[in-house]
Amino acid sequence: MCCTTATWWSCTFDAVGERLAFCVEPLNRTLGAIAHGTNVRSPTDDTGRATVQQAPGLSNFKKGGTMQDQADDRPGSAVQSSASGDAATLAGRTLQVRGLTKDYATAAEVVHVLRGVDLTLNGGEALAVTGPSGSGKSTLLYILGAIEEPTSGTVRIDDVDPFSLNEAERAAFRNRHIGFVFQDHHLLPQLTVLENVLVPLLAGPGVDEAAEARARQLLKRVGLEHRVEHRPAEISGGERQRVAVCRAMINQPTLLLADEPTGNLDPSNSAAIGDLLLEVAAEQSAILICVTHNMELAARFPQHKQLREGRLHDA
Ligand code: ADP
Ligand code: MG
Repeated sequence: MCCTTATWWSCTFDAVGERLAFCVEPLNRTLGAIAHGTNVRSPTDDTGRATVQQAPGLSNFKKGGTMQDQADDRPGSAVQSSASGDAATLAGRTLQVRGLTKDYATAAEVVHVLRGVDLTLNGGEALAVTGPSGSGKSTLLYILGAIEEPTSGTVRIDDVDPFSLNEAERAAFRNRHIGFVFQDHHLLPQLTVLENVLVPLLAGPGVDEAAEARARQLLKRVGLEHRVEHRPAEISGGERQRVAVCRAMINQPTLLLADEPTGNLDPSNSAAIGDLLLEVAAEQSAILICVTHNMELAARFPQHKQLREGRLHDA
């Protein structure tokens, strides 16, 4: 599993090479999840913000070529064409979860967090998940995002079991199939808005003119075309979260996973981000799963389930 710092560095250099390393030092795991899809639940997560030593500028991103893992190039792989928005790829998007369990062994006891989660969603569907604090919402999301391994049960995303892949393949799979939005935007402070949206491409196909055009189009879609050259500190909290949504969608993922995405926002910005997630996911035929405590936000979703006692129940 891609959880240790050593593994993260190795994944990074395997799949990203110098392009990410030269602009961000030290790399932390949150950036990893965003750019490359690795563990975000480490103890260092809350304190270890990525520190950018130098702003690379967009021209430095454009190294050309691709550094995709070989998994991306397998004939017929859904990974192969997802970034280009191929219509056939977008049409067949699926998530199938069967009998998912997750136990954590602590010194005192084994905690049974998930006790049998079943879920089927297709492209264009959107689900809000609510539940008491500690009920396992984030755990579920991180397993669906192929960040944490389940204790038992299966997850299939576009008919691929990500836990059957090796670490490098799984990292590449996450990068291309899964977008994350967190409570904190986790934008890199010294990069511009446009560069922040392009960060996930550094771990995958690279940044070319088409990618930049797509990023600009997404930013225009969320009403930020006039902010592309701004730094995160120069825009509002709601605007930062809109940038985070664009970053999550830049690779046109199958799964858009949002963990308390409006937790730091006021009510009007919360509603706006909720609508934006729903609209952008629908436009790209993505499967949206949003964990939230905000019942008004949950009510905006066509499907709403509660996580209780380790299982999903209709809300
Ligand atoms: P939620 O997001 O619903 O608040 P979490 O998924 O974060 O809940 O956590 C569910 C339960 O799993 C909690 O009791 C939490 O303490 C426990 N837990 C989460 N991660 C770990 C871990 N790495 N080791 C042990 N227990 C954990
Ligand atoms: Mg949580």
